[in-house]
Amino acid sequence: VVENERLKQELKACKTSLLQEAPPPACTATDCPHSQVRVWVWHGQNQVRAEAVKTQFILCVYYSSYVTEIVEVESSGSQQAVAEAQAKSAALQEQLSLQRQLLRELETQLHESQRTSTQLRAQILVYEGEMERAQGQLEAEMQNLEEEKNRVIEEAFIRAESEMKAVHENLAGVRMNLLTLQPALRTLTCDYNCLKRQVQDFPFMLEKAITEAKQEICQVIGEVSSANQELLRKYKREMNLRKKCHNELVRLKGNIRVFCRVRPVCRGEHDSAENMVSFDPEDDALLYLSTKGKLMTFELDKVFHPQATQEEVFQEVQSLVTSCIDGFNVCIFAYGQTGSGKTYTMEGVAKDPGINQRALRLLFSEVTEKAPDWDFKITVSMVEIYNETLRNLLGDNQGEKLDIKMNPDGSGQLYVPGLTEFTVQSPEDINRVFELGHMNRATACTNLNEHSSRSHALLIITVAGVNSSTGHRTQGKLNLVDLAGSERIAKSGAEGSRLREAQCINKSLSALGDVINALRSRHSHVPFRNSRLTYLLSDSLSGDSKTLMMVQVSPLVSNMSESVCSLKFAQRVRTIELGNATRRQWENSSTTSSPTHDSVEVTYTHTHTLERVSDALTNEISHVC
Ligand code: ADP
Ligand code: MG
Repeated sequence: VVENERLKQELKACKTSLLQEAPPPACTATDCPHSQVRVWVWHGQNQVRAEAVKTQFILCVYYSSYVTEIVEVESSGSQQAVAEAQAKSAALQEQLSLQRQLLRELETQLHESQRTSTQLRAQILVYEGEMERAQGQLEAEMQNLEEEKNRVIEEAFIRAESEMKAVHENLAGVRMNLLTLQPALRTLTCDYNCLKRQVQDFPFMLEKAITEAKQEICQVIGEVSSANQELLRKYKREMNLRKKCHNELVRLKGNIRVFCRVRPVCRGEHDSAENMVSFDPEDDALLYLSTKGKLMTFELDKVFHPQATQEEVFQEVQSLVTSCIDGFNVCIFAYGQTGSGKTYTMEGVAKDPGINQRALRLLFSEVTEKAPDWDFKITVSMVEIYNETLRNLLGDNQGEKLDIKMNPDGSGQLYVPGLTEFTVQSPEDINRVFELGHMNRATACTNLNEHSSRSHALLIITVAGVNSSTGHRTQGKLNLVDLAGSERIAKSGAEGSRLREAQCINKSLSALGDVINALRSRHSHVPFRNSRLTYLLSDSLSGDSKTLMMVQVSPLVSNMSESVCSLKFAQRVRTIELGNATRRQWENSSTTSSPTHDSVEVTYTHTHTLERVSDALTNEISHVC
């Protein structure tokens, strides 16, 4: 723009000089007075050409008569420069308009700010008013507080004064006390020094006392241990004596004991009103059967009348049960015809259990009592013998038939390979075992009652113990046997499979009788192998073993002949045993009227002998203790 302006100025000057000068020649070159522009003027064409010597601009001037009115820059460079200058000018224009816009906005903002400041000023005025008010309040409050403070200080001062007075008084008292305490302090210091000396001496005294005490303790321990040895020796001796006494008692009582239990007439049973069975009120070992006008007398070890409870029955057998803890083998058989109460006596009913459950519970409580000195393990097996085959009632495979074999350990003991043995640790375990045995027995047959009357059910309980102080070991076995019905074949009129069943039962029951007979008669050969039952129980029937035969009798007249048979069997078993002991002639010849068995005429009353022996043994035991 500046350049343009300058050129315009120059041009203007040129024009002026041109106008002042005379009309130029047809074509003259006039140097510009400013030496930068040379002007050529062609009159003929009414055209003036000015040439810018240095800047290369060519100016064409159109004029009429002498005055050039319009000057055009024809140079392309200048045109470009003009264009650039115009573009620049446009850009600057735009910038200017933007600046103007900005200015307008700033002005608007300024207005806004001015308005805001006016408002703020008004607000400041309001606040100042409020502040003045607050200051007034504050001052009033401060005044109040000041007054309060003064009052409190005054009160505190008064209180402090009175407290001070009290403290002064106390101080005087304490001073007085101090004066009296000084002598006490002196004695205390003296005591303290004395104690200090003692404390210094104490470890030596203590050490001496400990050494002496140790010596005394060692001496006492030595004495106690020798006393213990002596006690242990006495205990062992007493145990042996106890066993000897027990054996002696059992021998005198008989290793085979025969009890009889008469069951009550059950509800719904219709029988002749005749009173077939009667008892001796003086002697609980006698039983009378009256049949066809004859009175038969049976003497057994104990007779239970129909009202006898399960508990009463168990009380009589519990010493046998516990003897298996001492290592004896025991067999308890329930013998009798079907329906005479064998299962009731052995198993009982849920509310009133029989010997099986009570025995296990008793064994549990006994071994628990002995627990600190003895470690016992009780195992249980259940076996059924049907038609001379053994079935494992606690096993998984009910079809499996078990065999009885000689133990390969060379002990000469029999064992049943595959027989399940459950270790029972609580009364709950007992219930589970019985339930399982029952279930397995029931699933194998269509009619459990019928089936059970034709098979023997054995519950075999083994009690093994070890004494923790002496290391002494014991093992006893308790066999609880619910025998098959003893009724005779002819009566049941059996045929086919029934006949075979009856034959098997008959065979095993007579084999049992024979075995007992041979044992008690001390025969060199005992026919254990004649039946599975006797073979299985051989180790529990021989040697020191004890056997109880519980003969069950039905009170019904219709069962009379079977009852007589059962009692005859019982009598035979018992008489064999008694035959080996000292016996004396039965004084009352009326008993010979009993037609049951030839050996009934000789019997044995050993009660007095027993009492004497037992007294002597008790004396000896107490002496040893
Ligand atoms: P078994 O086993 O000898 O065939 P059970 O034990 O099954 O005979 O007894 C036959 C019936 O007589 C059962 O109903 C039983 O409950 C009942 N019974 C047996 N003995 C007694 C008793 N002492 N007290 C009450 N009921 C008894
Ligand atoms: Mg039964």
